[in-house]
Amino acid sequence: MRSWRWYFSRVMHLSLRWFRLCPRRRRPKRPGRIRDLWNYGKVVLNSLYFNTLSNWDTVLDSMFEPVYWLVDNLTRWFGVVFVCLVIALTSSVVVIVYLCVIPLIIETYPAHWILWHLCYGHWNLVMVVFHYYKASTTSPGYPPQEKSDIPTVTICKKCIVPKPARTHHCSICNTCVLKMDHHCPWLNNCVGHFNHRYFFSFCLYMTMGCIYCSISAKDMFLDAYNAIESYYQTPPPPFTSHERLFHKSLLYLWVLTSSVAMALGALTIWHAVLITRGETSVERHINRKERRRLRERGKVFRNPYHNGRINNWKILFGVEKSSHWLTRVLLPSNHPPHGDGITWDSPPHRKEPEAI
Ligand SMILES: [Zn+2]
Ligand SMILES: [Zn+2]
Repeated sequence: MRSWRWYFSRVMHLSLRWFRLCPRRRRPKRPGRIRDLWNYGKVVLNSLYFNTLSNWDTVLDSMFEPVYWLVDNLTRWFGVVFVCLVIALTSSVVVIVYLCVIPLIIETYPAHWILWHLCYGHWNLVMVVFHYYKASTTSPGYPPQEKSDIPTVTICKKCIVPKPARTHHCSICNTCVLKMDHHCPWLNNCVGHFNHRYFFSFCLYMTMGCIYCSISAKDMFLDAYNAIESYYQTPPPPFTSHERLFHKSLLYLWVLTSSVAMALGALTIWHAVLITRGETSVERHINRKERRRLRERGKVFRNPYHNGRINNWKILFGVEKSSHWLTRVLLPSNHPPHGDGITWDSPPHRKEPEAI
């Protein structure tokens, strides 16, 4: 008879042997495989877009690219709508002036005032139409696409062509523009080196025309307004439908021309300030930053394209002698601007060259 100690030692012995014979438990292979697949997938994905130069700006730009595309294309198409709107509104004002205002002037005003209104009104109209047509149809100027020795400042990242000084990329036209000021939806064209004068002259003469219409038709507008107010009296005054149309046309004319005179007048003054300072709208922002940066370093920023206040205007209008103020500014003229928009040497008016 064996003792319980013997049984116990046998059980322990067998247990130890069994544990020794059991294979070592391995870590499950599945997590390792998943990790490998995950890493492989990441490498494949990175290989599709990864670039050592990419950063969050690039990523955000790429994400917003469809939005930019939509805005650019809509602006391009809205440009056509805006041009039609300018033509329709201007034509409506001209028609009302011919049908309502001029007959009233001829009936009531003395001869010298009639002559003045006819001469000034038609001169203003010709200047507006000429400069609008030229501003919207004249190419603003583009940098050369082929290889050349022009002095360039940088390379356009979108066009991959060298950019001369004062040239900037227009995302709506999708090209670089010489001495770019801005893209004008009312012209459906960029404002650049070759049509800057036409653009500014259009703004100026359109503002003058609106102010002229607003002032000339003020008394007629007040009479028409009082007449419209009386429509609601009882009994209503005996106005014919023709008279009612006349009153409403004068009201429309005065409200439209006064509103445009204020809005376009403000824009014209802003552009006049920029021209006086020898800056474009784009350069205004660049120069402001540069001015601030240099001020912090105790230096003074000087705009290299500022040739003096009067000379800046002479350069814009292409005035080289006194008679040009009449023939090139006050009369329609299609003379080209000073320079080619690529190189910016000192113009003939400038006495002392200024440096940064
Ligand atoms: Zn470009
Ligand atoms: Zn443009």
